[in-house]
Amino acid sequence: MEPESQALHVLVVDDERDIRDGCERILLRKNFLVSKAANGMEALALLEQAAFAIVLLDLKMPGMDGMEVLLRIRETRPETLVIVITGYATIETAIEAMKRGAYDFIPKPFKPDQLRIVVDRAVEKKRLTDEAERLDRERRRTLKDLDMEKSRTRTIIQALPDGVMVSTPDAHVALMNPAFMRMLRLDSAGIRPGEHIRRYVGDEAFSHLVVDTSLGKVPPGVFRSCDLEREGGTVLRAQSTPVLSETGECLGAVTVLMDITELKMLDRLKSEFVTKVSHELRSPLSTIQQQLAMVLNDFEGEQEDEQRHILSRAKEKTQGLITLIGDILDLSRMEAGMVLRGSQSVDVKEILKATVDFLGTKARGRKQVLTLSVPEEPLPPVVADPQALEIVFGNLITNAIHYTDEGGNIQVSVGTAGNELCVVFQDNGFGIEERHREKIFEKFYRIKNDRTRYITGTGLGLPIVKGIVDALGGRVELESQVGVGSTFRVFLPASPPKTEP
Ligand code: ADP
Repeated sequence: MEPESQALHVLVVDDERDIRDGCERILLRKNFLVSKAANGMEALALLEQAAFAIVLLDLKMPGMDGMEVLLRIRETRPETLVIVITGYATIETAIEAMKRGAYDFIPKPFKPDQLRIVVDRAVEKKRLTDEAERLDRERRRTLKDLDMEKSRTRTIIQALPDGVMVSTPDAHVALMNPAFMRMLRLDSAGIRPGEHIRRYVGDEAFSHLVVDTSLGKVPPGVFRSCDLEREGGTVLRAQSTPVLSETGECLGAVTVLMDITELKMLDRLKSEFVTKVSHELRSPLSTIQQQLAMVLNDFEGEQEDEQRHILSRAKEKTQGLITLIGDILDLSRMEAGMVLRGSQSVDVKEILKATVDFLGTKARGRKQVLTLSVPEEPLPPVVADPQALEIVFGNLITNAIHYTDEGGNIQVSVGTAGNELCVVFQDNGFGIEERHREKIFEKFYRIKNDRTRYITGTGLGLPIVKGIVDALGGRVELESQVGVGSTFRVFLPASPPKTEP
């Protein structure tokens, strides 16, 4: 049996009681809800109170005839299906009724089966109409939802405090939010999206970032960034990432712009503070270290005892602190952009010779062979601060000494590679596992394993090396195999590097 809620309501309108009751019996057996009316007025009164799915309507009735009732139903309840019941000779009337909107007709007298067939057809028609309406409603809702979603997203993007810009694969601007326009002072009247990014922002690094990311040269999910210094000291950070289609095709890029002026200022203050504190600590620590060395000298020749051991440990720790302070000062000098300040034309061979000479004692202390091979002919000069280059070479050689066993080999060499100078630092030491190779260039990152556990260090050497080399327009490459050794290659531009104005 069909559930009550799905039972369709049928109204039977006929002045003959037998027909009304007969129809009712048949319809009740088919689980319809049935109401009856003996004339047109009664039928209209019932139709006003409730909606009927189907009306069985006798055309020939005293008083208001069926045709008039039909017209009223079409006006007030157009969704109701009307099946007209006609007498013998009134087939023309039936056709007329169909023209005026009746759905079907059944001639009198009819058998129960005939009625069932006609009503079933109407029910099927109603089901299809309802289904079509439901689908239409759903389609409209989906469209409305989509529209709402779109306007919601638009509102959010418009209200964001950070700048947002969407570009096409050929780096033309598709969308800019008000914050983006405000930050780049584009918010004067008349500026519209649609042009190449270079038409809006003159900054070379920024244009490159947007062009490369829009073209899909950057891996998905990776944010490339660059900083833009604006008039009045404002610093903006732009971060760009490609947008890919489901098939992996690059559709363009999204670039976000943030005002990091305050962050930069805080960073500067922090660096100044660290530099100040480091300076203040360096002299007293050096004094303590010298004094400890003197006291230890007094013990010279005496047997190893606990006091001497404690003093040696104190001296080692003090040396560790002095190194840390030295590294922090190098790092802050580098971050303050000082590596470019003392730039001059430098002969890399000379600096290498001096550094290898200086660190030779340290290598010999570990019974290692430290060699330098330089070409006979003069090398093209590099424009750099010689002190900064000493720091780079010194750190790489010191690392090779530290992370190579006693008796190991360290080879330093230099040559030209196109427009660059390539300085190679090769050791046959511990080697570096693949998973650490990028991380060791991050500040304070140290590899901890059984071989490195007792080696003291700050984790600042390689970040300093990378920072200086980057600032000089060069790059550092690393090749390594665990248990075989490591090769660090430093490439430096042989011609003057482009410096920021
Ligand atoms: P530190 O040497 O003070 O720990 P660095 O930044 O110079 O800091 O180096 C980071 C880490 O990289 C070191 O802790 C070491 O584990 C590893 N490393 C650096 N150079 C080498 C090398 N030549 N051979 C093996 N490991 C190295």
